[in-house]
Amino acid sequence: MLNPLGEKLWSTGQFFGVDLQHEFRGVTARSGVLFPGPAGWGEFSPFTDYSDQQAALWLTAAIEAAYLPTDIPPGAFVSVNAIIGDHEDAVVATRRAIEIFGCTTIKIKLGSDLMRDLERLDSIVSTAGTVNQSILIRVDINGRWSLEQALIAFKELNRYPIEYVEQPCADQESLRELHQRVNIPIAVDESIRVHHHKSVREFADIAIVKVSPLGGLRATRHIAENIGVPVRVSGALETSVGLFPSLVAAWQLAPDHPAGLGTGALFATDLVTPITVPNKGVIAVQRRDPDPTLLTAHALGPLDQQYWRQRFEAAFHLLPQESRDLLTAGL
Ligand SMILES: [Mg+2]
Repeated sequence: MLNPLGEKLWSTGQFFGVDLQHEFRGVTARSGVLFPGPAGWGEFSPFTDYSDQQAALWLTAAIEAAYLPTDIPPGAFVSVNAIIGDHEDAVVATRRAIEIFGCTTIKIKLGSDLMRDLERLDSIVSTAGTVNQSILIRVDINGRWSLEQALIAFKELNRYPIEYVEQPCADQESLRELHQRVNIPIAVDESIRVHHHKSVREFADIAIVKVSPLGGLRATRHIAENIGVPVRVSGALETSVGLFPSLVAAWQLAPDHPAGLGTGALFATDLVTPITVPNKGVIAVQRRDPDPTLLTAHALGPLDQQYWRQRFEAAFHLLPQESRDLLTAGL
């Protein structure tokens, strides 16, 4: 059951379901609800494995995006890293990153098999070499390594141009130990959402912040200002419409470093044409409204709509008062 405010917001929502090119982060499609507001569109698309509490943070972010105007000067842009999908050929993807997207920082998810991981890193480095481009690599392990595996892997990683290794281990104790014993910078992503973030400096050098899972731009800024280590802004596989608050965060919080917002390249379909992908290594910090034709083409069936209604109800009940106030003023 929703209160009248929740019903009113819900009645403005537009369902969407779009496809990825390949499986990524265990998903092959992205779906959710877009809410229009006086400031623009907000995207509510928490992953299926997210708890109601995490979904509530995402809804908080979506409401903020739709109801709180953002002041961005015309012409603002952020540099971004390219991303190589789990099932993509590293040579092809590296060429695309450099020659089509103009990116010189490349992110790749590794951590299943060390031999294969090193082969993929070799492919990236040698491909960049053939086009005479110096690059930096961001490696994301998503917590897959034990401390022992990480120590072995880090020895091998020393020979690559790695900017940082993101979430090499899942638990804080392993990260702390690893941090003391290796030289490559360690970034944390999942850790800052599950642990109290004051102690991050003790086990990491960089924090990855993501606007939707952290509850919006203001919450993300608050975390970035208090976390004690530099941040990099990344996305959570939002559509080109839902990417905007993350672009703003990158522009405001880490303007000198590429953001992890080149994820449009992973989408097969989207709600705008063309899909937002890097051009000359950058993406413009501007809102993109969904194309009504594409919203119709990528609408959801009744069962999916029911699923999103349940997710929305659970999240709405957990909304902070601030979000309710924003809605009361703007709906
Ligand atoms: Mg990550």
